Amino acid sequence: MKKLVIIGGGASGFFLAANLNKTNWKVTILEQSKHPLQKVKISGGGRCNVTHACFNPKELVKFYPRGSKELTSIFSHFQPSDTFDWFERRKVNLNIEADNRVFPDTNTSQTIIDTLLKHTEKNNIQVHYETVVSDIMNENQLFKIITSKFVYEADALIIATGSSPKMWKIISKLGHSIISPVPSLFTFNCKSPLIQNLQGTSFTEAEISIPLLKHTEYGPLLITHWGLSGPSILKLSAWKARELAELKYNFILKINWVSESFDEVKNTLNGYKVQNPKKSIYSLKPYNLTQRFWQNMLNVLDIKEKVLAELSKTDINRITETLTNTRLTINGKSTFKDEFVTAGGVNRKEIDFRTMQSKLVQNLYFAGEVIDIDAITGGFNFQACWSEAFVISQQFNIYEKN
Ligand SMILES: Cc1cc2nc3c(=O)[nH]c(=O)nc-3n(C[C@H](O)[C@H](O)[C@H](O)COP(=O)(O)OP(=O)(O)OC[C@H]3O[C@@H](n4cnc5c(N)ncnc54)[C@H](O)[C@@H]3O)c2cc1C
Repeated sequence: MKKLVIIGGGASGFFLAANLNKTNWKVTILEQSKHPLQKVKISGGGRCNVTHACFNPKELVKFYPRGSKELTSIFSHFQPSDTFDWFERRKVNLNIEADNRVFPDTNTSQTIIDTLLKHTEKNNIQVHYETVVSDIMNENQLFKIITSKFVYEADALIIATGSSPKMWKIISKLGHSIISPVPSLFTFNCKSPLIQNLQGTSFTEAEISIPLLKHTEYGPLLITHWGLSGPSILKLSAWKARELAELKYNFILKINWVSESFDEVKNTLNGYKVQNPKKSIYSLKPYNLTQRFWQNMLNVLDIKEKVLAELSKTDINRITETLTNTRLTINGKSTFKDEFVTAGGVNRKEIDFRTMQSKLVQNLYFAGEVIDIDAITGGFNFQACWSEAFVISQQFNIYEKN
């Protein structure tokens, strides 16, 4: 019987194993830790954001800063609607939330873990835990896998080891080039009187940009203890992951807190002045801004408590400029606890995306974060793992010919 070894007992490795229900290969998973699927466990704040309710592959690939072209063909074989079918056929109901993220209806990642483990076991696949791969040799069409326990042999090898620098070194010894890894999906550190002590304050639709990189994002924004977070920041961190690493995470961020132009905001404020001349500027709450943000901003601008009629032209211009064109200095980044990934990994040019097989080494395959593919937050990273692993599984399952 031919031997297939999967290195890595994470999302990709186990989804592949759970799909090998018609194989005539002897399959073994080698996993370095004591427990499998550790990232799935903590994913989505412990709820596991399994996929995203976007069922058009052409639209879906737009959420991947790296790998969108290559994933187009992968998603034509297995896309979020297939993820729904796959889990629902195994009695896991998935719920679509308002922002199109998808979670198991039990709201715990353990449901996903239990399902993957159950079907791996059903497929008679051996899992060897606490088995750390330290080297791989490829001789005479056979892989020799050196581990902390035994030396394994395999006729075909799947590497699904996520973002492991040690494994990337081993992979490069096999002849592959590795695009240097940098973090993606992080929050921005910032100290400014404008956001000081305002943690928890959110803005429904902000426009943020990095003038130096000429990149703009839109969406909710959140002030945290250390600086700024929220969907708009995470998107910016993903799309500009590499450039921000080069800048060592020191740059100027421009924020329009209300997503309206200078003239629109100025007209709105002048309108308030005419309609409510006796109203106190402190009690005004334009654009649904929180009272805390608004009053703190007036304090920072040193615009004292006045009624609206007393506001000078300069006062209105300064408030408008702050609301539409704040410039904050970002010094460093922090980890976003719900989801973070690594940009970089095995060079996509060296993989045949019809099969996920290496173009350089026969019978060597890659799946998951080990490849230079990653997405913004929202369930897209797991979807890439499921889809790639499914495509690989199809080559090791036997289908009866009619
Ligand atoms: C906190 C957090 C939350 C997240 N939440 C989400 C989410 O809700 N939705 C989403 O889509 N994505 C989420 N992600 C991203 C997602 O977890 C990853 O994209 C995904 O886990 C990648 O799967 P993988 O199988 O490629 O790698 P991993 O899941 O990292 O699995 C790789 C496995 O390989 C093993 N391994 C590594 N080196 C060796 C070795 N030398 N020998 C043997 N074994 C080895 C590791 O121990 C690990 O078990 C989150 C990430 C984090 C960090």
